[in-house]
Amino acid sequence: MGRKTKEVMAKLKEKGVNAGANQMIEFDLIEEVAGEFGYLVEKIPYEHEALVELEKPDPEDKLKERPPIVTLMGHVDHGKTSLLDKIRHSRITAKEAGGITQHIGAYQVEFNGKKITFLDTPGHEAFTKMRARGANVTDIVILVVAADEGIKPQTVEAINHAKSAGVAIIVAINKIDKPEANPDMVKRQLLEHDLVVEDYGGDIISVPVSAKSGQGIDELLEYILLVAELLELKANPDRPAKGYIIEAKIDKGRGPVATVLVQNGTLKRGDTFTCGYTYGKVRGMFNDLGKQVKEAPPSTPVEVLGFNTIPDAGDKFYVVQNEQVAREIAEVKKVRDESTKQQAQPKKLSLEDLFKKMEEGEVKELPIVLKCDVQGSVETIDALLNKLSNPEVKINVIHKAVGAITENDVLLASASNAIIVGFHVKADKKTMKLAEQEGVEIRIHNIIYELTNEIKAAIEGMLEPEIKEEVIGRLEVRKVFKVPKVGFVAGCYVQEGYITRKSMVRVYRDNILIHEGRISSLKRFKDDVSEVKAGYECGLSIENLKDIREGDEIEAYINVEVKKTLDK
Ligand code: GDP
Repeated sequence: MGRKTKEVMAKLKEKGVNAGANQMIEFDLIEEVAGEFGYLVEKIPYEHEALVELEKPDPEDKLKERPPIVTLMGHVDHGKTSLLDKIRHSRITAKEAGGITQHIGAYQVEFNGKKITFLDTPGHEAFTKMRARGANVTDIVILVVAADEGIKPQTVEAINHAKSAGVAIIVAINKIDKPEANPDMVKRQLLEHDLVVEDYGGDIISVPVSAKSGQGIDELLEYILLVAELLELKANPDRPAKGYIIEAKIDKGRGPVATVLVQNGTLKRGDTFTCGYTYGKVRGMFNDLGKQVKEAPPSTPVEVLGFNTIPDAGDKFYVVQNEQVAREIAEVKKVRDESTKQQAQPKKLSLEDLFKKMEEGEVKELPIVLKCDVQGSVETIDALLNKLSNPEVKINVIHKAVGAITENDVLLASASNAIIVGFHVKADKKTMKLAEQEGVEIRIHNIIYELTNEIKAAIEGMLEPEIKEEVIGRLEVRKVFKVPKVGFVAGCYVQEGYITRKSMVRVYRDNILIHEGRISSLKRFKDDVSEVKAGYECGLSIENLKDIREGDEIEAYINVEVKKTLDK
């Protein structure tokens, strides 16, 4: 505003706020104070310019193929860990085998001359937790289904978590060595979840494997590379690195250590970085075999030394030009997160403000996680909810299952901006707390029509309202005054209804419309008023009016928003 800091501080003090020069204050207050200096305030999300630079897309000609990042998911005991181990061991040379005890949260293997990165925390919990934090690192999900047991509840969860993340899915039908293995059963069951495997004419790849014998592992890796090629995964190795923290710990001898999964660019020893609330300088870098490396190109997981304090899993990691910028970004992030925490976490999506969000962001979808007491209710309510979809708003039940609302459901809803709808079920205290933290809305009902009515009402709010005109009053012009600079003031008598300051008016002369527009002032005697009723006189000036005469008729109207209902 070109004002001295002191002046602004003095103005704040008048309002009872003792703020220092570098203190964050709330938007409403900024607006108020700036207003008093004669400024309008516009709200734009702040990003440090260094970050804005780093988030810019790379030029097409700089992009090179990068290895796919793969996560294994599936029901407990279906063999995720065994498969991860088998893959790792099968692709390692005797020389490297010593390093295999290392676990840094991810590892890379080479197959047919190409690399594949595996995240070695299997399961959709870790996957969705990262996603809820905004870290979408996985390109391909391997859905592990035991051939003897088939699809189980956690398999379904994994399918829906992967689907809502929009990642590619390859099915590994595991334990094929077992005599009771029945891969056909698995394929049939997959159909029920809209995963149509190639044998059934679909495009989902399924591979029979055995983590025990190693059968099918090579095929699985081949397919991963095939899918990766189709996905055209690319990055620019020739720029400062950015990535995500996969895991972090305090190491007794080495201080804070964290595994960074480089997404773009190349991370180098000596690079200065910012990461969540912390920052630092890469003092040492180790690969998944514990070997010191100097560089980490895209899709590479590396253990990094040199953090000032321990970061969190899911934190974004950026290499920046110098320590000052690194510190600035980390500090701003901290202050900003703290101030939004104080202002109570904004809800990600609530039924109440759906409409507003839709208007702002033109979002026209309502993702729902549905949990019910019995399978029958799941099916019935899912069908009823889907029926509420219409061309303007799509209801998208991203996950439906029997059982209480869990922390996993909350994370999925958080990551997908969904709400959770429960029928005859509830959430325990821990889950409620997480929901509160994540800003996820949980709606619980015990009567079906109440549940569907509520969603219906929310969607109606989401539908574009129709603007309808409503005539609210009629006036007669009884006298006209010409006022210098202002123009005409019409002395009117309200014959019918009323007129408000916010009305629009039409002026008729002998039933012919001569003007239409806003009113610029509404007075009774000398005073501004907001409304004048029938039977009273008022003084009216009308914007841009060129001519008005005694005997003209004025029609006052307002525009009202009429919410559409689904039945129409
Ligand atoms: P996770 O919970 O999905 O990580 O499953 P695990 O990898 O821990 O495996 C669960 C159990 O299944 C273990 O006892 C494994 O030895 C066994 N298992 C895993 N893969 C296979 C397989 O391909 N064949 C047989 N026969 N057993 C397997």
